[in-house]
Amino acid sequence: MCTPAYSDMHGYAQTVADRPGGGASGPSQALIEELALANRILFREGVVDAFGHVSVRSDADPGRYLLARNMAPALVTADDIVEFDLDSAPLNADGRAVYLERFIHGEIYKARPDVTAVVHSHSPAVVPFGIVKTAKFRSVCHMSSFLPVCTPIFEIRDTAGEDNDLLITSHALGAALARVLGEGTCVLMRGHGSTVVASNLREVVYRAVYTEVNAKLQSEAMRMGEVTYLNEKELVTTTRTIATQINRAWDFWRMRAEGKL
Ligand code: MN
Repeated sequence: MCTPAYSDMHGYAQTVADRPGGGASGPSQALIEELALANRILFREGVVDAFGHVSVRSDADPGRYLLARNMAPALVTADDIVEFDLDSAPLNADGRAVYLERFIHGEIYKARPDVTAVVHSHSPAVVPFGIVKTAKFRSVCHMSSFLPVCTPIFEIRDTAGEDNDLLITSHALGAALARVLGEGTCVLMRGHGSTVVASNLREVVYRAVYTEVNAKLQSEAMRMGEVTYLNEKELVTTTRTIATQINRAWDFWRMRAEGKL
């Protein structure tokens, strides 16, 4: 199922035949290593703590995705990465526990063929925007221009009713979250956190970091007075320009995560 166009589109140009690791149908070892590093970066940059997760669609099969086993992201190594089908059934967990909320990832990958990477977190500055009824989470800064004009809020009571545990623990809840995300890049989850998506792993890490930055800036600006947000044209043009700069952030964050800075 892995066509050259698919691989090229996501920046992993190796073919199935010349992947350095894995069998004929498995993801590349390079992608597995990069996902493990993404976990550690997201911890180091304050997006995840003991909770939260990042996934990437397999570079060998768009009908599968990779996600760590159930553990704190800071501790993830390549050996902890598990492959899932889009129904979020683990294919090689070998008895290891998996995340309760893996359905966030599988259902978004089903609904959004353009999405290749997903971060779900409880990054703290974002959470108030899913709680305060009059607050709208919007881009206030060029680095967070990827945010939607009006970031949607997922209300779990609409699907699970009043008696719920706020977690996305089923296909139905994951699909409902994906519907609220729509064609956008970010969805807030009331009383819980947020989920961001992107077309590749480095971009989704970048977006998760700057979603939290935007929340801090917007909160501070709203305390000071009336806020000017990026307009729709600025969102489009700035996102296009910044997309060329993401590797610069990735190289810096990798060094920090590795304790070299
Ligand atoms: Mn969660």
